[in-house]
Amino acid sequence: MDFSTPYTDEQQAFRAEVQTWIQANVPDDMREPIDPQDFSKEQYLFWREKHQELAVKGWLYPTYPTEYGGGGLTADHETILQEEFYKGGVPRSPNSDIVLATLLVWGTEEQKEQFLRPMLTGEYNSWQKFTEPQSGADLANYQSTAVRDGDDWILNGQNVYVSGRPNTEWGLGGPTYMWGPMLTDPDAPRHRNLGFFMIPTDAEGVTMREQRLINGWDQHFIFLDNVRVAGDHLIGGDHQGWQVAQTTLEGEHGGRGQAFPRDEAMDNMLQYIQVEAKKGSARATDDVVRQTAVDSYIDFAVNNLLLQRTYWMYTTRQAIITEGIVANVYRRENAWRQSARIREVMGLSGMLGVDDPGAPFGGQPEVYQRAAFAQGHAGGSLNIARVTAARRIGISRTQERPAPTPATATQHGS
Ligand SMILES: Cc1cc2nc3c(=O)[nH]c(=O)nc-3n(C[C@H](O)[C@H](O)[C@H](O)COP(=O)(O)OP(=O)(O)OC[C@H]3O[C@@H](n4cnc5c(N)ncnc54)[C@H](O)[C@@H]3O)c2cc1C
Repeated sequence: MDFSTPYTDEQQAFRAEVQTWIQANVPDDMREPIDPQDFSKEQYLFWREKHQELAVKGWLYPTYPTEYGGGGLTADHETILQEEFYKGGVPRSPNSDIVLATLLVWGTEEQKEQFLRPMLTGEYNSWQKFTEPQSGADLANYQSTAVRDGDDWILNGQNVYVSGRPNTEWGLGGPTYMWGPMLTDPDAPRHRNLGFFMIPTDAEGVTMREQRLINGWDQHFIFLDNVRVAGDHLIGGDHQGWQVAQTTLEGEHGGRGQAFPRDEAMDNMLQYIQVEAKKGSARATDDVVRQTAVDSYIDFAVNNLLLQRTYWMYTTRQAIITEGIVANVYRRENAWRQSARIREVMGLSGMLGVDDPGAPFGGQPEVYQRAAFAQGHAGGSLNIARVTAARRIGISRTQERPAPTPATATQHGS
Protein backbone atom coordinates (compact mmCIF):
# COMPACT_ATOMS: atom_id res chain seq x y z
CA MET A 1 0.00 0.00 0.00
CA ASP A 2 1.24 3.47 -0.89
CA PHE A 3 1.08 5.77 2.14
CA SER A 4 2.29 8.88 0.32
CA THR A 5 -0.09 11.83 -0.07
CA PRO A 6 -0.95 12.97 -3.61
CA TYR A 7 -0.84 16.73 -4.18
CA THR A 8 -2.46 18.88 -6.88
CA ASP A 9 -0.50 21.28 -9.10
CA GLU A 10 -1.84 24.22 -7.07
CA GLN A 11 -0.62 22.58 -3.86
CA GLN A 12 2.81 21.90 -5.36
CA ALA A 13 3.00 25.55 -6.42
CA PHE A 14 2.24 26.50 -2.81
CA ARG A 15 4.99 24.14 -1.66
CA ALA A 16 7.45 25.86 -4.00
CA GLU A 17 6.41 29.24 -2.55
CA VAL A 18 7.09 27.97 0.99
CA GLN A 19 10.47 26.55 -0.05
CA THR A 20 11.41 29.87 -1.65
CA TRP A 21 10.50 31.73 1.54
CA ILE A 22 12.62 29.35 3.63
CA GLN A 23 15.62 29.73 1.31
CA ALA A 24 15.38 33.52 1.44
CA ASN A 25 14.68 33.86 5.16
CA VAL A 26 16.31 31.06 7.14
CA PRO A 27 20.09 31.22 7.54
CA ASP A 28 21.72 27.92 8.48
CA ASP A 29 22.58 29.06 12.01
CA MET A 30 18.92 29.92 12.72
CA ARG A 31 17.56 26.45 11.91
CA GLU A 32 16.06 24.43 14.76
CA PRO A 33 18.94 22.49 16.36
CA ILE A 34 18.74 18.69 16.76
CA ASP A 35 18.94 19.00 20.54
CA PRO A 36 16.38 21.52 21.87
CA GLN A 37 18.90 22.32 24.62
CA ASP A 38 21.00 24.08 21.96
CA PHE A 39 18.24 26.52 20.94
CA SER A 40 19.84 29.89 21.68
CA LYS A 41 18.62 33.28 22.80
CA GLU A 42 19.62 34.68 19.36
CA GLN A 43 17.50 32.05 17.66
CA TYR A 44 14.58 32.82 19.97
CA LEU A 45 14.73 36.55 19.18
CA PHE A 46 15.14 35.88 15.44
CA TRP A 47 12.10 33.58 15.36
CA ARG A 48 9.89 35.89 17.45
CA GLU A 49 10.13 38.32 14.54
CA LYS A 50 9.94 35.72 11.78
CA HIS A 51 6.85 34.10 13.30
CA GLN A 52 5.10 37.46 13.09
CA GLU A 53 6.09 37.69 9.42
CA LEU A 54 4.72 34.19 8.89
CA ALA A 55 1.46 35.22 10.57
CA VAL A 56 1.06 38.09 8.08
CA LYS A 57 1.32 35.51 5.27
CA GLY A 58 -1.25 33.33 7.07
CA TRP A 59 1.35 30.61 7.65
CA LEU A 60 1.75 30.72 11.45
CA TYR A 61 -1.70 29.35 12.32
CA PRO A 62 -2.83 28.48 8.80
CA THR A 63 -6.28 27.04 9.46
CA TYR A 64 -7.44 29.45 12.18
CA PRO A 65 -10.10 32.00 11.19
CA THR A 66 -8.88 35.18 9.47
CA GLU A 67 -11.34 37.27 11.49
CA TYR A 68 -9.10 36.73 14.54
CA GLY A 69 -5.74 36.88 12.77
CA GLY A 70 -5.41 33.26 11.58
CA GLY A 71 -4.52 32.17 8.05
CA GLY A 72 -7.93 30.89 6.85
CA LEU A 73 -6.12 28.25 4.75
CA THR A 74 -6.97 24.59 4.19
CA ALA A 75 -5.75 21.45 5.96
CA ASP A 76 -3.69 20.62 2.84
CA HIS A 77 -1.89 23.96 3.12
CA GLU A 78 -1.15 23.22 6.77
CA THR A 79 0.23 19.78 5.89
CA ILE A 80 2.56 21.27 3.27
CA LEU A 81 3.68 24.03 5.63
CA GLN A 82 4.48 21.56 8.40
CA GLU A 83 6.37 19.30 6.02
CA GLU A 84 8.47 22.13 4.56
CA PHE A 85 9.01 23.81 7.94
CA TYR A 86 10.31 20.51 9.30
CA LYS A 87 12.68 20.06 6.34
CA GLY A 88 13.81 23.71 6.54
CA GLY A 89 14.39 23.71 10.31
CA VAL A 90 11.67 26.29 11.04
CA PRO A 91 10.74 25.97 14.74
CA ARG A 92 7.18 26.06 16.01
CA SER A 93 5.88 29.21 17.66
CA PRO A 94 6.79 29.36 21.37
CA ASN A 95 3.08 29.82 22.09
CA SER A 96 1.45 26.83 23.80
CA ASP A 97 -1.19 26.74 21.08
CA ILE A 98 -3.71 24.36 22.66
CA VAL A 99 -5.14 27.46 24.35
CA LEU A 100 -6.20 28.88 20.97
CA ALA A 101 -9.07 26.40 20.64
CA THR A 102 -10.09 27.18 24.23
CA LEU A 103 -10.25 30.90 23.55
CA LEU A 104 -12.27 30.29 20.38
CA VAL A 105 -14.84 28.19 22.24
CA TRP A 106 -14.99 29.92 25.64
CA GLY A 107 -13.71 33.48 25.13
CA THR A 108 -16.07 36.45 24.77
CA GLU A 109 -15.60 38.57 21.63
CA GLU A 110 -13.61 41.04 23.76
CA GLN A 111 -11.38 38.24 25.11
CA LYS A 112 -10.79 36.92 21.59
CA GLU A 113 -9.58 40.39 20.61
CA GLN A 114 -7.55 40.77 23.79
CA PHE A 115 -5.86 37.35 23.93
CA LEU A 116 -6.53 35.26 20.81
CA ARG A 117 -5.72 37.76 18.06
CA PRO A 118 -2.24 38.71 19.34
CA MET A 119 -1.43 35.02 19.78
CA LEU A 120 -2.53 34.19 16.23
CA THR A 121 -0.43 37.08 14.90
CA GLY A 122 2.61 35.89 16.86
CA GLU A 123 2.81 39.00 19.00
CA TYR A 124 1.94 37.25 22.29
CA ASN A 125 3.01 33.83 23.48
CA SER A 126 1.87 31.75 26.43
CA TRP A 127 2.57 28.71 28.60
CA GLN A 128 0.22 26.11 30.02
CA LYS A 129 0.23 26.37 33.82
CA PHE A 130 -1.62 23.21 34.92
CA THR A 131 0.53 20.85 36.99
CA GLU A 132 0.96 21.55 40.70
CA PRO A 133 3.17 19.55 43.06
CA GLN A 134 0.04 17.75 44.33
CA SER A 135 -2.12 17.83 41.21
CA GLY A 136 -0.51 16.15 38.20
CA ALA A 137 -2.32 12.98 37.21
CA ASP A 138 -5.13 14.06 39.55
CA LEU A 139 -5.55 17.37 37.76
CA ALA A 140 -8.79 18.39 39.47
CA ASN A 141 -7.08 18.49 42.87
CA TYR A 142 -6.10 22.16 42.56
CA GLN A 143 -4.70 24.01 45.57
CA SER A 144 -3.72 27.31 43.91
CA THR A 145 -6.35 29.88 44.81
CA ALA A 146 -8.09 32.82 43.16
CA VAL A 147 -9.95 35.17 45.51
CA ARG A 148 -12.13 38.04 44.33
CA ASP A 149 -11.08 41.56 45.29
CA GLY A 150 -13.54 44.05 43.81
CA ASP A 151 -13.43 43.56 40.03
CA ASP A 152 -10.02 41.86 40.26
CA TRP A 153 -8.76 38.48 41.43
CA ILE A 154 -5.81 37.78 43.75
CA LEU A 155 -3.91 34.60 42.79
CA ASN A 156 -1.65 32.47 44.99
CA GLY A 157 -0.04 29.11 44.28
CA GLN A 158 2.74 27.04 42.80
CA ASN A 159 3.25 25.00 39.62
CA VAL A 160 5.85 22.58 38.31
CA TYR A 161 6.99 21.30 34.87
CA VAL A 162 5.53 24.30 33.01
CA SER A 163 7.08 24.12 29.52
CA GLY A 164 8.11 26.79 27.11
CA ARG A 165 10.50 29.36 25.76
CA PRO A 166 12.07 31.82 26.43
CA ASN A 167 14.54 30.26 28.80
CA THR A 168 14.14 32.46 31.88
CA GLU A 169 17.94 32.56 32.27
CA TRP A 170 18.20 34.64 29.05
CA GLY A 171 16.95 37.71 30.93
CA LEU A 172 13.97 38.23 28.61
CA GLY A 173 11.29 37.57 31.25
CA GLY A 174 8.69 34.91 30.46
CA PRO A 175 5.96 34.52 27.87
CA THR A 176 3.21 37.15 27.70
CA TYR A 177 0.73 34.94 29.57
CA MET A 178 0.38 31.76 31.53
CA TRP A 179 -3.03 30.16 31.67
CA GLY A 180 -4.77 27.48 33.69
CA PRO A 181 -7.31 26.68 36.39
CA MET A 182 -7.28 28.13 39.93
CA LEU A 183 -9.42 27.22 42.93
CA THR A 184 -12.15 29.88 43.12
CA ASP A 185 -14.51 28.14 45.56
CA PRO A 186 -12.97 25.67 48.06
CA ASP A 187 -16.48 24.78 49.34
CA ALA A 188 -17.90 23.79 45.95
CA PRO A 189 -17.78 20.17 44.73
CA ARG A 190 -14.87 18.88 42.63
CA HIS A 191 -15.04 19.99 38.97
CA ARG A 192 -17.31 22.92 39.97
CA ASN A 193 -14.78 24.76 42.13
CA LEU A 194 -12.34 26.22 39.59
CA GLY A 195 -11.96 29.25 37.33
CA PHE A 196 -9.67 29.44 34.26
CA PHE A 197 -7.31 32.44 34.17
CA MET A 198 -5.03 34.23 31.74
CA ILE A 199 -2.14 35.46 33.91
CA PRO A 200 0.23 38.17 32.63
CA THR A 201 3.74 37.05 33.55
CA ASP A 202 4.96 40.62 34.05
CA ALA A 203 2.45 41.07 36.92
CA GLU A 204 3.94 41.73 40.34
CA GLY A 205 4.29 38.53 42.37
CA VAL A 206 4.99 36.11 39.44
CA THR A 207 8.28 34.19 39.72
CA MET A 208 9.55 31.70 37.09
CA ARG A 209 12.52 29.43 37.61
CA GLU A 210 14.11 26.87 35.27
CA GLN A 211 13.49 23.18 35.96
CA ARG A 212 15.84 20.95 33.95
CA LEU A 213 14.52 17.57 32.81
CA ILE A 214 16.06 14.77 30.77
CA ASN A 215 14.50 15.86 27.45
CA GLY A 216 16.29 19.20 27.29
CA TRP A 217 13.18 21.31 26.76
CA ASP A 218 12.72 24.18 29.14
CA GLN A 219 10.44 23.38 32.03
CA HIS A 220 9.76 25.77 34.90
CA PHE A 221 8.74 26.15 38.51
CA ILE A 222 6.13 28.91 38.81
CA PHE A 223 5.23 30.81 41.96
CA LEU A 224 2.26 33.17 42.28
CA ASP A 225 2.42 35.40 45.33
CA ASN A 226 -0.61 37.70 45.68
CA VAL A 227 -0.78 38.29 41.93
CA ARG A 228 -3.55 40.71 40.95
CA VAL A 229 -5.33 40.09 37.63
CA ALA A 230 -8.27 41.98 36.15
CA GLY A 231 -11.73 40.36 36.07
CA ASP A 232 -11.71 40.09 32.27
CA HIS A 233 -8.78 37.64 32.53
CA LEU A 234 -11.19 34.92 33.72
CA ILE A 235 -12.23 32.74 30.74
CA GLY A 236 -15.71 31.24 31.24
CA GLY A 237 -17.56 31.47 34.56
CA ASP A 238 -15.86 31.42 37.96
CA HIS A 239 -17.07 27.81 38.49
CA GLN A 240 -16.39 26.64 34.91
CA GLY A 241 -12.59 26.32 34.98
CA TRP A 242 -12.62 22.54 34.80
CA GLN A 243 -14.89 22.57 31.75
CA VAL A 244 -12.77 25.27 30.05
CA ALA A 245 -9.59 23.28 30.79
CA GLN A 246 -11.16 20.20 29.19
CA THR A 247 -11.31 21.93 25.80
CA THR A 248 -7.57 22.55 26.11
CA LEU A 249 -7.03 18.91 27.06
CA GLU A 250 -8.98 17.66 24.02
CA GLY A 251 -6.21 19.16 21.90
CA GLU A 252 -3.39 18.10 24.19
CA HIS A 253 -4.66 14.52 24.40
CA GLY A 254 -4.63 14.06 20.65
CA GLY A 255 -7.98 15.51 19.58
CA ARG A 256 -6.50 17.69 16.85
CA GLY A 257 -4.38 14.92 15.35
CA GLN A 258 -1.29 15.75 13.32
CA ALA A 259 -1.18 17.04 9.76
CA PHE A 260 2.36 15.81 9.23
CA PRO A 261 3.59 13.20 11.71
CA ARG A 262 7.37 13.09 11.81
CA ASP A 263 9.11 9.78 11.42
CA GLU A 264 12.78 10.62 11.08
CA ALA A 265 13.51 8.21 13.95
CA MET A 266 12.41 5.34 11.71
CA ASP A 267 13.99 6.77 8.54
CA ASN A 268 17.33 7.21 10.28
CA MET A 269 17.24 3.69 11.70
CA LEU A 270 16.45 2.11 8.32
CA GLN A 271 19.17 4.17 6.67
CA TYR A 272 21.62 3.11 9.38
CA ILE A 273 20.90 -0.55 8.66
CA GLN A 274 21.31 -0.05 4.89
CA VAL A 275 24.63 1.76 5.29
CA GLU A 276 25.93 -0.83 7.75
CA ALA A 277 24.85 -3.66 5.43
CA LYS A 278 26.76 -2.05 2.51
CA LYS A 279 29.83 -1.88 4.72
CA GLY A 280 29.46 -5.65 5.15
CA SER A 281 28.38 -5.57 8.79
CA ALA A 282 27.08 -9.00 9.75
CA ARG A 283 24.89 -7.39 12.40
CA ALA A 284 22.98 -5.31 9.81
CA THR A 285 21.92 -8.43 7.92
CA ASP A 286 21.04 -10.31 11.09
CA ASP A 287 17.44 -11.61 11.00
CA VAL A 288 16.64 -10.04 14.38
CA VAL A 289 17.73 -6.61 13.16
CA ARG A 290 15.72 -7.00 9.94
CA GLN A 291 12.65 -8.01 11.95
CA THR A 292 13.18 -4.95 14.17
CA ALA A 293 13.29 -2.75 11.08
CA VAL A 294 10.04 -4.21 9.73
CA ASP A 295 8.34 -3.77 13.13
CA SER A 296 9.43 -0.15 13.15
CA TYR A 297 8.12 0.46 9.62
CA ILE A 298 4.72 -1.04 10.44
CA ASP A 299 4.47 0.79 13.76
CA PHE A 300 5.17 4.18 12.18
CA ALA A 301 2.74 3.52 9.33
CA VAL A 302 -0.05 2.73 11.82
CA ASN A 303 0.97 5.64 14.06
CA ASN A 304 0.88 8.13 11.21
CA LEU A 305 -2.45 6.88 9.91
CA LEU A 306 -4.02 7.21 13.37
CA LEU A 307 -2.69 10.77 13.78
CA GLN A 308 -3.70 11.84 10.28
CA ARG A 309 -7.15 10.28 10.63
CA THR A 310 -7.76 12.42 13.71
CA TYR A 311 -6.44 15.48 11.90
CA TRP A 312 -8.77 14.80 8.94
CA MET A 313 -11.74 14.30 11.32
CA TYR A 314 -10.96 17.54 13.15
CA THR A 315 -10.60 19.62 10.03
CA THR A 316 -13.78 18.16 8.55
CA ARG A 317 -15.62 18.90 11.84
CA GLN A 318 -16.45 15.35 12.80
CA ALA A 319 -17.00 14.43 16.44
CA ILE A 320 -13.80 12.88 17.80
CA ILE A 321 -14.55 10.51 20.65
CA THR A 322 -11.99 7.68 20.79
CA GLU A 323 -9.73 8.52 17.85
CA GLY A 324 -7.62 11.31 19.40
CA ILE A 325 -6.79 9.63 22.67
CA VAL A 326 -6.14 6.24 21.00
CA ALA A 327 -3.68 7.91 18.60
CA ASN A 328 -2.10 9.72 21.57
CA VAL A 329 -1.51 6.46 23.47
CA TYR A 330 -0.21 4.72 20.34
CA ARG A 331 2.16 7.58 19.49
CA ARG A 332 3.77 7.60 22.91
CA GLU A 333 3.99 3.83 23.23
CA ASN A 334 5.47 3.65 19.74
CA ALA A 335 8.11 6.19 20.78
CA TRP A 336 9.09 3.91 23.66
CA ARG A 337 9.17 0.88 21.37
CA GLN A 338 11.23 2.83 18.83
CA SER A 339 13.68 3.86 21.55
CA ALA A 340 14.26 0.19 22.41
CA ARG A 341 14.69 -0.61 18.69
CA ILE A 342 17.30 2.15 18.32
CA ARG A 343 19.34 0.57 21.10
CA GLU A 344 18.84 -2.89 19.58
CA VAL A 345 20.02 -1.80 16.12
CA MET A 346 22.58 0.94 16.83
CA GLY A 347 23.87 -0.33 20.14
CA LEU A 348 25.96 2.14 22.10
CA SER A 349 26.36 4.53 19.16
CA GLY A 350 22.62 5.24 19.43
CA MET A 351 23.36 6.76 22.82
CA LEU A 352 25.98 9.27 21.62
CA GLY A 353 24.86 12.87 21.99
CA VAL A 354 25.04 15.76 19.54
CA ASP A 355 28.49 16.84 20.74
CA ASP A 356 30.07 13.47 19.91
CA PRO A 357 31.59 13.39 16.39
CA GLY A 358 30.81 9.65 16.18
CA ALA A 359 27.09 10.09 16.86
CA PRO A 360 24.95 8.82 13.95
CA PHE A 361 22.66 11.42 12.35
CA GLY A 362 24.21 14.21 14.40
CA GLY A 363 22.93 12.64 17.65
CA GLN A 364 19.23 12.60 16.65
CA PRO A 365 18.68 9.01 17.91
CA GLU A 366 19.97 9.93 21.38
CA VAL A 367 17.83 13.10 21.54
CA TYR A 368 14.81 11.08 20.39
CA GLN A 369 15.19 8.54 23.19
CA ARG A 370 15.36 11.22 25.88
CA ALA A 371 12.33 13.01 24.45
CA ALA A 372 10.35 9.75 24.19
CA PHE A 373 11.07 9.01 27.84
CA ALA A 374 9.79 12.42 28.97
CA GLN A 375 6.80 12.30 26.62
CA GLY A 376 5.40 9.44 28.68
CA HIS A 377 4.59 12.11 31.28
CA ALA A 378 4.22 15.35 29.34
CA GLY A 379 0.67 16.36 28.48
CA GLY A 380 -0.75 14.10 31.20
CA SER A 381 0.87 10.76 31.99
CA LEU A 382 0.48 7.76 29.70
CA ASN A 383 -1.38 5.84 32.43
CA ILE A 384 -4.00 8.57 32.60
CA ALA A 385 -4.26 8.64 28.79
CA ARG A 386 -4.95 4.89 28.89
CA VAL A 387 -7.68 5.47 31.52
CA THR A 388 -9.22 8.19 29.31
CA ALA A 389 -9.07 5.88 26.27
CA ALA A 390 -10.82 3.12 28.25
CA ARG A 391 -13.56 5.55 29.29
CA ARG A 392 -14.08 6.76 25.74
CA ILE A 393 -14.06 3.25 24.28
CA GLY A 394 -16.67 2.22 26.85
CA ILE A 395 -14.71 -0.43 28.73
CA SER A 396 -14.33 1.48 32.01
CA ARG A 397 -16.70 1.72 35.00
CA THR A 398 -17.11 5.41 34.15
CA GLN A 399 -17.85 6.92 30.74
CA GLU A 400 -16.40 10.19 29.47
CA ARG A 401 -17.74 12.47 26.79
CA PRO A 402 -15.47 14.74 24.75
CA ALA A 403 -15.33 18.45 25.65
CA PRO A 404 -16.41 21.01 23.03
CA THR A 405 -13.76 22.05 20.50
CA PRO A 406 -13.86 24.65 17.71
CA ALA A 407 -14.64 21.80 15.31
CA THR A 408 -17.79 20.81 17.21
CA ALA A 409 -18.85 23.87 19.25
CA THR A 410 -18.88 26.88 16.93
CA GLN A 411 -18.94 27.74 13.27
CA HIS A 412 -15.23 28.65 13.41
CA GLY A 413 -12.72 26.23 11.96
CA SER A 414 -9.21 26.05 13.32
C1 LIG B 1 8.60 17.13 29.44
C2 LIG B 1 7.39 17.52 30.26
C3 LIG B 1 6.70 18.68 29.91
C4 LIG B 1 5.59 19.07 30.67
N1 LIG B 1 4.97 20.25 30.35
C5 LIG B 1 3.98 20.71 31.15
C6 LIG B 1 3.38 22.00 30.89
O1 LIG B 1 3.74 22.71 29.95
N2 LIG B 1 2.41 22.44 31.74
C7 LIG B 1 1.99 21.70 32.78
O2 LIG B 1 1.10 22.14 33.50
N3 LIG B 1 2.53 20.45 33.05
C8 LIG B 1 3.51 19.96 32.26
N4 LIG B 1 4.07 18.72 32.51
C9 LIG B 1 3.61 17.94 33.65
C10 LIG B 1 2.78 16.72 33.26
O3 LIG B 1 1.50 17.12 32.80
C11 LIG B 1 2.71 15.82 34.50
O4 LIG B 1 3.99 15.26 34.68
C12 LIG B 1 1.69 14.72 34.40
O5 LIG B 1 0.39 15.26 34.38
C13 LIG B 1 1.80 13.72 35.57
O6 LIG B 1 1.79 14.41 36.78
P1 LIG B 1 2.92 14.13 37.88
O7 LIG B 1 4.24 14.22 37.20
O8 LIG B 1 2.65 15.03 39.03
O9 LIG B 1 2.73 12.61 38.29
P2 LIG B 1 1.84 12.04 39.48
O10 LIG B 1 0.47 12.60 39.40
O11 LIG B 1 2.58 12.20 40.74
O12 LIG B 1 1.80 10.50 39.07
C14 LIG B 1 2.98 9.68 39.22
C15 LIG B 1 2.76 8.39 38.46
O13 LIG B 1 1.61 7.70 38.98
C16 LIG B 1 0.71 7.39 37.94
N5 LIG B 1 -0.69 7.55 38.37
C17 LIG B 1 -1.18 8.54 39.15
N6 LIG B 1 -2.52 8.38 39.31
C18 LIG B 1 -2.86 7.27 38.62
C19 LIG B 1 -4.11 6.59 38.40
N7 LIG B 1 -5.24 7.03 38.92
N8 LIG B 1 -4.09 5.49 37.62
C20 LIG B 1 -2.94 5.03 37.08
N9 LIG B 1 -1.73 5.64 37.25
C21 LIG B 1 -1.70 6.74 38.02
C22 LIG B 1 1.00 8.41 36.84
O14 LIG B 1 0.67 7.91 35.57
C23 LIG B 1 2.50 8.63 36.97
O15 LIG B 1 3.19 7.67 36.22
C24 LIG B 1 5.18 18.29 31.76
C25 LIG B 1 5.86 17.11 32.10
C26 LIG B 1 6.96 16.73 31.36
C27 LIG B 1 7.69 15.47 31.73
